[in-house]
Amino acid sequence: MMKTVYNFAAGPAVLPQPVLQQVQDELLSYRQTGMSVMEISHRSALFQDIIDRAEAGLRRLMAIPDNYKVLFLQGGASLQFHAVPLNLATTGKVAFVDTGNWSKKAKAEADKLPHVTTTVLASSQAQQNRVIPTVPAVTDHYDYVHITTNNTIEGTTFFDLPAVGDNILVGDMSSNILAQPYRVADFGLIYAGAQKNIGPAGLTVVIVRDDLIGKVPNLPAMLDYQLQADKGSLYNTPPVFAIYTAGLVFDWLEQLGGVPAMTQINQAKAKILYDYLDQSDLFTAPVAPAYRSLTNIPFVTGNADLDAQFIDAATKAGLYNLKGHRLVGGMRASLYNAMPIAGVTTLVDFMKHFEQEVR
Ligand code: PMP
Repeated sequence: MMKTVYNFAAGPAVLPQPVLQQVQDELLSYRQTGMSVMEISHRSALFQDIIDRAEAGLRRLMAIPDNYKVLFLQGGASLQFHAVPLNLATTGKVAFVDTGNWSKKAKAEADKLPHVTTTVLASSQAQQNRVIPTVPAVTDHYDYVHITTNNTIEGTTFFDLPAVGDNILVGDMSSNILAQPYRVADFGLIYAGAQKNIGPAGLTVVIVRDDLIGKVPNLPAMLDYQLQADKGSLYNTPPVFAIYTAGLVFDWLEQLGGVPAMTQINQAKAKILYDYLDQSDLFTAPVAPAYRSLTNIPFVTGNADLDAQFIDAATKAGLYNLKGHRLVGGMRASLYNAMPIAGVTTLVDFMKHFEQEVR
């Protein structure tokens, strides 16, 4: 019998057990073909059915309007930092809300395009990224305004979207897509790396309003949203295994009641950990309550040696990957959709025990 472990990694991250079980059951012979899903042609009817069903599943889960394309791409969210301005920055004026490391990286990739000028509308840097900054009403015209809906490293979330006027909002939803509700129609484009709430690494989902694409000629084929849309994400060989697994994750989430049901579960999980942190004499959660992420929860003891001791002891107890990002130190528990409530209660019990021991 394998010992129960809980994986709190920020990504690649925990996947639902029933999905892994199904992957295992189907691995050697997908639908009686005698081949694994990794070995079938991406031009086969069998794979077409897999990608069609994955797309339909995501469309239902996020209520994606018909005038939005769903693209299954590669290169991670990091490639989208560049692809988004390449496709959407038709006048070259782009705005960002700076909420930490990933939004800075997104801006830096846009800045590499010679025709693009970026503006920072608001920043949380002076508050150590422990808040989501207030964005003044946007009156200027930009090709789009970019936000990181959930800041994986800093543990903050946009629960309310900024008022961008007539501008288009672009959201990097890598770490809270499908974990809490957003209205797709509030965005012109949403992108997310799959390896947190969707499936294995190697797949990136882009959801884009169809009138925003196809405006820039001669883009590199792999970065051309219009071409990828026209080819049904099959311009080249797609990450077949990741798309297949994502489809199973979408089915799993739908059976659980979709995003509304998952939001309630995620709120309950996060509350267990934040409630404990807020009354603890040892651990603290640095993020201001109004902006606290449901999916990535940083915490510290205030003493780097004690942090290291905690992480070591937690690992020995089967509570894995609790080390905070190297930029911020301390600890971080990522509570994505596939993390069961038992994982959080086990973590909190362990923290209580640790707190008693060191006092
Ligand atoms: N944006 C956010 C919010 C992230 O959390 C990450 C990865 N942790 C990235 C972008 C980069 O994603 P990728 O590794 O898929 O390029």
